[in-house]
Amino acid sequence: MFDQFALHERLLKAVAELKFVEPTPVQVAAIPPALEGRDLRVTAQTGSGKTAAFVLPMLNRLIGDAVVRADVRALILLPTRELAQQTLKEVERFSQFTFIKSAMITGGEDFKVQAAVMRKVPDILIGTPGRMIEHLNAGTLVLKDVEMLILDEADRMLDMGFAEDVQRLVGECAKRQQTLLFSATSGGAALREMTASVLRDPLHLQLNRVSELNEGTRQQIITAENTEHKEKLVHWLLANETYKKAVIFTNTRVQADRLYGRLVAEGVKAFVLHGDKDQKDRKLAIDRVKEGGVKVLVATDVAARGLDIEGLDLVINFDMPRSGDEYVHRIGRTGRAGGEGLAISLICHNDWNLMSSIERYLKQRFERRVIKGLKGSYMGPKNLKASGKAAGTKKKKIEKKKGTEKKAKPAGKRPNGAKRESLSPVVSQDGMAPLKRKKPTAE
Ligand code: AMP
Repeated sequence: MFDQFALHERLLKAVAELKFVEPTPVQVAAIPPALEGRDLRVTAQTGSGKTAAFVLPMLNRLIGDAVVRADVRALILLPTRELAQQTLKEVERFSQFTFIKSAMITGGEDFKVQAAVMRKVPDILIGTPGRMIEHLNAGTLVLKDVEMLILDEADRMLDMGFAEDVQRLVGECAKRQQTLLFSATSGGAALREMTASVLRDPLHLQLNRVSELNEGTRQQIITAENTEHKEKLVHWLLANETYKKAVIFTNTRVQADRLYGRLVAEGVKAFVLHGDKDQKDRKLAIDRVKEGGVKVLVATDVAARGLDIEGLDLVINFDMPRSGDEYVHRIGRTGRAGGEGLAISLICHNDWNLMSSIERYLKQRFERRVIKGLKGSYMGPKNLKASGKAAGTKKKKIEKKKGTEKKAKPAGKRPNGAKRESLSPVVSQDGMAPLKRKKPTAE
């Protein structure tokens, strides 16, 4: 129950109005220390209820303070316009019984209109770093009275190259008393650096615990011979599985476009989301999928970050994600709020070891599934090590001796010249050995 928290009655009234009954784990963990004024470093993904976990303590701080100031008092920095829109909506819903005003400034919208909004001085400002810096430079944004700062999806802001902008904006909030940093993954060195420089004696809350995320979601693998075989499997799954909405993850933009093209050619209504798509395309795709007009989204990890789509019950990993955290992040989107979900990973010989590392990370074994009529010749490695990885890799050397092996590809090159979308580098995750992806073999 939300009345376990020392929240102002007007906020509790809004919570009741929204029909939130039980707080989610991230809310239980983060709201009490945030209300005490602690800095927090929280690892929690979209869909966990993380927005309310920082919005409620933020509103509580602002509501309880009768001092009227002439400048912005709370700042929420986040990576994308969609996330800004979703967050603004959440802030407005929770502040509906208060006099607290909020506003959003992001790229892609009229600068002058935003400057006019700023002149009305909202209490809470939500926005993306790039546009905020532009307003700072133009003198239309003043952050000196910011008491509370939230960095949401900090890992993604770093992935998108906003580190310097974020640092500058943080520096502008000279009187800041409390900072909460949220990230979907445990991140890499850049995130650790930011945490150390921005937060004061933070409490670390790790909510991405694997065990929480898998409830209600079945996890399966289907082995595949090559990309064409994977495409056939996707087509079969979309035609035969029962689902409301599906997301298919690929590791590269090229693969996302290719798969999207195949699906459309076969009459599947789908959208594709990746880093090359502009805001308009993204918004259209997300709106259509949310409305239910389109059931299938093909996406890369970067593009899919921050998406909150209700009724998502099928995730297909066309390519295996590179880390356990990223896997959890992908499949954590399904089977939410007690609903059933299904996560299927398509595994070629070059995905196998990665898949087996992720199984070890999650401490579970994925269900092996075979689709009748689409069974390929590759069914996993013939011999397995105790770790579950493929045993015996001497074959190549023998082939080399015979002179039958094709010339090796230069390091870093991928099939089709496909470049992986930029995410944090392959890093060692909590409790997981570093995952080294084997160089893909030509398919
Ligand atoms: P978020 O992780 O903040 O993007 O939240 C995901 C969705 O869950 C949003 O639509 C929230 O409004 C909703 N939500 C958050 N907390 C609760 C709760 N305690 N009970 C019911 N719904 C919630």
